[in-house]
Amino acid sequence: MKKTFFSLLFSAGIFLLAGLVSADWPRALETGGGGEAQAGSAPVVALTFDDGPHPVYTEILLEGLRERGIKATFFLIGVNAEGHEDIVRQIADDGHLIGNHTYSHVQLTSISDAKACEEIDKANQVIGEACGQEIHYIRPPFGSWQEDLESLIDMQVVLWSVDPEDWRVQDTQTVVERVLSHVEDGDIILLHDVYRTSVEAALEIVDRLTEEGYEFVRVDELLLD
Ligand SMILES: [Zn+2]
Repeated sequence: MKKTFFSLLFSAGIFLLAGLVSADWPRALETGGGGEAQAGSAPVVALTFDDGPHPVYTEILLEGLRERGIKATFFLIGVNAEGHEDIVRQIADDGHLIGNHTYSHVQLTSISDAKACEEIDKANQVIGEACGQEIHYIRPPFGSWQEDLESLIDMQVVLWSVDPEDWRVQDTQTVVERVLSHVEDGDIILLHDVYRTSVEAALEIVDRLTEEGYEFVRVDELLLD
């Protein structure tokens, strides 16, 4: 009798466990593939953050995005990732997309192709090791890119469509207003998570655009659509 009771309990446990595992699968696939059925009707935007990680502001941003359930894209500078591997790992663990912003923030068009490749490879190595993922996306500093690099570098270049020049004004409300007055469905917003004002602006932009019905996606989801 006792044995039957326990074997029943055991079977119920397995059944429950199987249910949990199978319930998790569709979610895991959706986050990887992007473009859920209901997302088609809502306007989407991608928040992108360059020049990090920053030892203070990136973590504040991550916390704010986590609270709001928002995924974004971070283009990291290799040299900034060194010594802050824990933050890089946290960005990845939170489900954000991590991209390459060169090792030392160089203008790729003003150096030799060999040097440019070195800058990109070194950043991929440092960032990739820190987050445990291969890096497939690159945002060239200053948006400077040349076509012959494309034959040498097998990465997807990501530029932007809304630039509030947050680094120049460093004023939260100005950044928020500039983005909100320009943003449209499908935009890629450029911000820098190395300024307190930009992080504050980003979270306010999330709240205001969420109210307007926008959904936030990573650039790989946007580019796939
Ligand atoms: Zn930059």
